[in-house]
Amino acid sequence: MSLSFDSARLPNPDLTEEHHAWRDQLRRFIDREIMPNVDEWDEQGFLPDELWGKAAEFGLLGVGYPEQYGGTEVGIDLHHVNIVSEEISRTSLGGLPSTLLSHGIGLPPVLAFGSEELKSELVPPILAGEKRISLAITEPSGGSDVANMQTTAVRDGDHYIVNGSKTFISGGMGADWATTGVRTGGKGGAGISVLVIPMDLEGVSRTPLDKKQGWWCSDTATLYFDNVRVPVGNLLAEEGHGFLVIANNFNNERLAMSVMMEANARVCLEDAVNWARDRKTFGKRLADHQVIRHKIVEMKQRITTCQTYIQYCTRQMAAGTAEFGDIAMLKIQCSQTVEFCAREAMQILGGIGYMRGNRVERIYREVRVNAIGGGSEEIMRDLASRAFGL
Ligand SMILES: Cc1cc2nc3c(=O)[nH]c(=O)nc-3n(C[C@H](O)[C@H](O)[C@H](O)COP(=O)(O)OP(=O)(O)OC[C@H]3O[C@@H](n4cnc5c(N)ncnc54)[C@H](O)[C@@H]3O)c2cc1C
Repeated sequence: MSLSFDSARLPNPDLTEEHHAWRDQLRRFIDREIMPNVDEWDEQGFLPDELWGKAAEFGLLGVGYPEQYGGTEVGIDLHHVNIVSEEISRTSLGGLPSTLLSHGIGLPPVLAFGSEELKSELVPPILAGEKRISLAITEPSGGSDVANMQTTAVRDGDHYIVNGSKTFISGGMGADWATTGVRTGGKGGAGISVLVIPMDLEGVSRTPLDKKQGWWCSDTATLYFDNVRVPVGNLLAEEGHGFLVIANNFNNERLAMSVMMEANARVCLEDAVNWARDRKTFGKRLADHQVIRHKIVEMKQRITTCQTYIQYCTRQMAAGTAEFGDIAMLKIQCSQTVEFCAREAMQILGGIGYMRGNRVERIYREVRVNAIGGGSEEIMRDLASRAFGL
């Protein structure tokens, strides 16, 4: 049996013919529209605007979103969404999903807690690829301690006046709206609310964060709010319920990240195995050296652990019984696995693995963000420990 991206995927008894057909269609789209451009987009530091329209037309942006706003919800479940995360990560371009699919974290709070008017205004153009939305929680003063955020929103008639700033915001330079955590009340989590802030309002400015270790094609930004007047209708849920709004989508985001990390680890495995089969040293193939075979097996072993855990967590999520702690531990498991696999794959590739323009180099360069963004490793462990009453 060969060991490749596809063959190293554990059989998943929950997948149907429809899921497999969706994967095939999606792969064809990605192979046609994305794969040939990966190196160029990475080096140029941005994604072409027309990609949003193409992705919308194919149906990628609307997967799992309500039909009434232009999405495809009927017959779609979490496995379809996982397949998106998996297939898009086969490209190895980590900045692609964090930008093209930034609505995956910016939009669910609007759908779950926004007014009908707000949803009707925002969701259709976003799913059509005409407008974009980001999630803005992290501040220059810190991201882990969400309850301590400093950006303020003070009620003034029919508006909130927002002052403060947000940083490391994925897709922030191109966003038309930012789903933004603000402080409307006193200290702590109970003083937090979430406002959808249009980026064209007076007093909004932004600067790019383009000197990143990885995710070069992602337009990460710092956003500044200087007496920005935001209509009260843009408040999500009730004032002071922002923590709930923010936390509501955490498990989806972390599951998606986990699936992407597992897929990235599998890319490393595939490229390492192919190289080990072809490359000869000391008169035999790399794969004929026991040390190299052991590296490959350890990669596979760790990847398989992630896959079983992903299947378990997906089932729990689909049933609505997922624990925050489980998803948090899954995220750690997957980030450690992809770090390990990126290192071992680059080791097997040798010098060529260190050169730009191959998937392993890119994944290695980008791998650290997984243990930081979407809830850092330390914060994930702390979250998981609560389930044990610690
Ligand atoms: C490329 C990129 C894209 C991002 N995209 C977004 C986005 O779209 N939207 C958004 O809102 N944010 C985004 N982030 C921000 C990300 O969520 C934060 O970086 C993350 O939450 C950590 O916050 P911080 O960087 O301020 O670190 P801090 O909160 O300052 O923490 C620094 C370190 O200390 C550790 N630490 C903190 N508190 C504790 C504790 N109690 N115990 C032990 N260790 C602790 C942390 O784990 C971390 O390792 C992005 C970040 C990056 C790098």
